[in-house]
Amino acid sequence: MELAQLTQDLETLAAETATALAGAPDVASLDALEVDVLGKKGRLTGVLRGIGALPVDDRPKVGAVANRVRAGIEAEIAERRAVLGSAELDARLAAETIDVTMPGRPFRHGSLHPSIESMFEIARIFGQFGFVVHESPEIEDDLTNFQDLNIPPDHPARDLWDTLYVDIPGHLLRTHTSPGQLHVMRTMQPPIRALLPGRCFRYEAIDASHGSEFFQVEGIMVDEGTTMGDLRGLLDEFAHAMFGAGKRTRFRPGYYPFTEPSVAFDVECLVCGGPGCPACGRSGWMTILGAGMIHPVVLRRGGLDPERYQGFAFGMGPERISMLRHRITDLRLFLENDVRFLGQFR
Ligand SMILES: [Zn+2]
Repeated sequence: MELAQLTQDLETLAAETATALAGAPDVASLDALEVDVLGKKGRLTGVLRGIGALPVDDRPKVGAVANRVRAGIEAEIAERRAVLGSAELDARLAAETIDVTMPGRPFRHGSLHPSIESMFEIARIFGQFGFVVHESPEIEDDLTNFQDLNIPPDHPARDLWDTLYVDIPGHLLRTHTSPGQLHVMRTMQPPIRALLPGRCFRYEAIDASHGSEFFQVEGIMVDEGTTMGDLRGLLDEFAHAMFGAGKRTRFRPGYYPFTEPSVAFDVECLVCGGPGCPACGRSGWMTILGAGMIHPVVLRRGGLDPERYQGFAFGMGPERISMLRHRITDLRLFLENDVRFLGQFR
């Protein structure tokens, strides 16, 4: 091996490396090239292996050339890496640009169930008249659900409420929110204005207008000198707030064991406004709730003296209110949890 040959080999390596560098398409191929030329088992090391065969005097000369070549290649690689690196960054920035004009992904969110929404609205309206919401248990005993509401065990009116019993003797799933009247009278002192919303249960054949599980909102007012006129005025205000100002209303005689007298409260048909149509059974009226003056027996069972206090009670189904307001014709929709139905009440 001669000095000239070795020097020539180094220069050749430098030239070939420069050509390869110029053609390297990306940083990854640059990395590979660097290992190939400057790595521990690279081509430069391979050329320098020939130094051992040179005379001792020539070795430093080759070493100087080798260092110059190595430094030159390293500088070229660094320069090329900077160029390719910034080009790749530019390409990535261009590819990953966020288009702020693109429509966003829809954000799905829930809504109140129409029964709950209806109960909130009922509570809001009566709240303006001083009624406070009072919660009452869903499991009651026979005494509170029936007997103390003037419905003794042999009373024919029990047929109105087909009852679901639970495994505790004498206990049942409340068939109406009316037992709440007794709880309120036993815990509050007149004047009482309370609203009793809640779930009720009956052993019913399920159809478009009957369910085995439904909501009721009961209200009671008890004070000295409370009259049927107060009841009528309050219910008129409610009907106008819920269904529209100026809607005509009427009382019809009704029957409940726990009120006397009892009435059904009607509002003029929300579809035809009076002349009669299929929605109102051609009567021109729609019944929205039942009401009456609290029976003296119930007041007494509630711990109040009927000689001193009078009161009225009313009860309605929030589902029925929703059905009338939104022209819904089938009660079963409220329990089917179909989002196509529920999503309409946002
Ligand atoms: Zn009608």
